[in-house]
Amino acid sequence: MNILLTGGAGYIGSHVAITLLEYGHRPVIFDNFVNSTSNVIARIELIVNKTIDCIEGDIRDMPALIKVIKENKIDAVIHLAGLKSVSESNEKPLDYFSVNVGGTISLLQAMKKTGVRHLVFSSSATVYGEPRYLPIDESHPTNPTNVYGETKLQTELILRNLSESDASWKFGCLRYFNPVGAHHSGLIGEAPLGRPNNLMPIIASVAAGERGELKIFGGDYGTKDGTGIRDYVHVMDLARGHLASINYLAKVGSHLVNLGTGMGYSVLEVVGAYQQISCKTIPYSVEKRRSGDVAAVYANTKLAESLLGWRATQNLYEMCATSWAWKSQQSKI
Ligand code: NAD
Ligand code: UDP
Repeated sequence: MNILLTGGAGYIGSHVAITLLEYGHRPVIFDNFVNSTSNVIARIELIVNKTIDCIEGDIRDMPALIKVIKENKIDAVIHLAGLKSVSESNEKPLDYFSVNVGGTISLLQAMKKTGVRHLVFSSSATVYGEPRYLPIDESHPTNPTNVYGETKLQTELILRNLSESDASWKFGCLRYFNPVGAHHSGLIGEAPLGRPNNLMPIIASVAAGERGELKIFGGDYGTKDGTGIRDYVHVMDLARGHLASINYLAKVGSHLVNLGTGMGYSVLEVVGAYQQISCKTIPYSVEKRRSGDVAAVYANTKLAESLLGWRATQNLYEMCATSWAWKSQQSKI
């Protein structure tokens, strides 16, 4: 299939591109490089030993999308382009609604005009807000506590309304938990242009000696060791989830599923695993809780398994090992 991959130069998108190429699809990346660089394209090509098409553009530019869809005879879309910082979303809500919601509407209009009806969307476990029970299944109430989560939930609603209005539209909404790790080659990984906010890139940066210590946000949660628990999922497992979703859209139809491992690890457990893998000491201090954080979040993954036949296979050590391979390689260039 010819698959338009919006945000394909980003962290998750670059790993999805590799998986699609490995399974014989032709991804066409569309990205404005607001949080990535075009260097990743050559690295993807090196890993899979194939060339890949990449077009620079903004998803809010509908005519540009129509042109790309027509010229590349696109069959389906995997839509990852978006802004993803929780803190920034609360400071710049208009930017977040413009790109994440407005950009998706522009993409859907381009698809409507060109007759493309299948789209996989990067949603987030953030849509659930404070957990009422664990593990979180897809029927758990949604109640986002930040603008970023609101933009994801509103986009899901638009997709649902659209498929209810016209059955030819098929959507796969994938609610990711905490994507981490990198491709095993160490050639691509998470490379945000600003300062990272997420735990694993920060641990990697401490291990590499770029930062002095990790600040652990809260040691007084009612968890096994007092630190926050999350469901970390390997980015290559996640990438396979997109392939499963595209296949399910073609064979069966719309779906909304969690993509996680179903396992929760504390901050201290992640630090311990990373230390073991990297053979580096990760100095840390325990600080006060980060505003908006919750004690524990992890997924019920049964629906993804029963509908898509998808299950995460890589464990915490593999997540840390590939993150470290990527970080070590990055430090050399
Ligand atoms: P990323 O920032 O690495 O990738 C997003 C890509 O989209 C970047 O390459 C960026 O340049 C591009 N982009 C942003 N705005 C654009 C626009 N207007 N037009 C064209 N391209 C644009 O982020 P990621 O971690 O790869 O996340 C991909 C998607 O998954 C996002 O939608 C994000 O919200 C979602 N998601 C990510 C996580 C996570 O923890 N990484 C968790 C849940 C959901
Ligand atoms: N965390 C931390 N220090 C940091 C960054 C994150 O202690 O510098 C903790 C955070 O409080 C949470 C876990 O690590 O318990 C995962 O945080 P991340 O921001 O990666 O994901 P999210 O909170 O969005 O699920």
